[in-house]
Amino acid sequence: MMITLDIIYLIATITFIYGLKLLGHPETAKKGNLIASLGMGLAIIGTIFLHNLIIPTFVYSLIIAAIAVGSVIGWLMAVKVQMTKMPELVSLFNGFGGASATIIGLVEFGKNIGNASQTATTMAAIIIGSLTFSGSVVAWGKLNGRMKSLIRLPKYNLINNLVILGLIIFATYFVMSASNSQMLLYLLLIGALIYGVLFVIPIGGADMPVVISLLNSLTGIAAAITGVLYSNMVMIVGGILVGSAGLILTFAMCKAMNRSISNVVFGAFGSSNAAVGDGSQSEKGDIRSTTISDVAILMNYSQRVIIVPGYGLAVAQAQHAIHELEQLLESRGVQVKYAIHPVAGRMPGHMNVLLAESNVSYDKLAEMDDVNPEFKNTDVVFVVGANDVVNPAAHNDASSPIFGMPILEVADAKQIIVNKRSMNPGYAGIENELFYNPKTSMLFGDAKKCIQELINEVKNM
Ligand code: NDP
Repeated sequence: MMITLDIIYLIATITFIYGLKLLGHPETAKKGNLIASLGMGLAIIGTIFLHNLIIPTFVYSLIIAAIAVGSVIGWLMAVKVQMTKMPELVSLFNGFGGASATIIGLVEFGKNIGNASQTATTMAAIIIGSLTFSGSVVAWGKLNGRMKSLIRLPKYNLINNLVILGLIIFATYFVMSASNSQMLLYLLLIGALIYGVLFVIPIGGADMPVVISLLNSLTGIAAAITGVLYSNMVMIVGGILVGSAGLILTFAMCKAMNRSISNVVFGAFGSSNAAVGDGSQSEKGDIRSTTISDVAILMNYSQRVIIVPGYGLAVAQAQHAIHELEQLLESRGVQVKYAIHPVAGRMPGHMNVLLAESNVSYDKLAEMDDVNPEFKNTDVVFVVGANDVVNPAAHNDASSPIFGMPILEVADAKQIIVNKRSMNPGYAGIENELFYNPKTSMLFGDAKKCIQELINEVKNM
């Protein structure tokens, strides 16, 4: 029995690694996800039926009922979620992973009193699992707008560091004293939950993707730790893969924003309430609005057009329309490509996934570093529902919360068309001086509607 289970675990481990590899490219990502999920399903079924569990039959029924209910809820959530709400869902699922590790730690506590390494592992599972859980719930609340105002305690860094230090001392006491006090255990649990909240609360605005990725990585570490508790290879490998992939993504995003991880965690970046412009005029200059027919003429007679998609394109669900416009312009001899900023949208790779949905060819997608030198030879940049990722304040304004973040250098192009519905700010909540650039014309309106009208106009030329 156990040999069969070991083989099943080996197969599951291989599917995780292979699945992760396939996740590396949008074309194969779906298949990778499916393969790794099948491996996970196999490992779960194998554990239930082949592990020497000495439990009454009715407990089996409870396990199967819980799996059925969990699968239906998970399936419905995943099917129903809008693409723009995906980071929230990921954050919530992270939280559940952390909660599972905590529950395992709580259940296992007391079973190995006196065994220092087992107690230390249990403590780590409880602390990392519960801070990941509460931190992820806060991140979920902040992303969906339920937690708008950031309650930031004065000297929050000092307070946070003292809390985590206290937790480490507390856990060390458990290990050294071989205590089995349930009361102290629950105090430790509450402390870790509080730390998770304190950890995420001060982090704001533009840093949320990094935090979610970091929490994702912590969930993996918590899972790997629980795997150590049970000497379960598949849990250890699965957890390590999630932990390391999450860390790699965290550092990749920090690099994309030109920030260090300590600056993200301790800097409270992007949570300032920066001033926002109120209308069409500012000391920076005037806003010029343009019309569908002017933009259609401009694009139709251009040689090179670069489209900069952002969060608004996803909100408007305009990915099919933009692909149609791209193909139409190409058929008129215009060279078109998309400039993809690493944090455009609301989740890593958001624009790639969105454009893949409408079958935009991958060779049309240009990464920020590759496309930036090309803007100066571009006739028209069409910014659709993007804002922060093209905001020159990242270069020019040291007081800006996005100062230092690399941006798409659209201001180098000959003409800039910005399509959005109003002068409202983007995610970071700050004004964008690009809109006042003499080369910029604003095309106000919903992205899908505007692009469809543009298509009709170009077709009539
Ligand atoms: P932004 O959030 O900066 O701006 C989006 C713009 O889209 C808004 O200014 C809005 O203006 C416009 N918009 C909204 N709906 C529509 C619509 N229906 N039609 C046309 N326009 C619309 O987006 P960016 O992609 O430029 O930047 C992403 C931001 O999100 C960055 O600050 C990034 O750090 C952050 N972030 C990124 C994550 C990631 O992993 N990618 C995760 C979490 C945050 P208006 O209301 O006037 O229409």
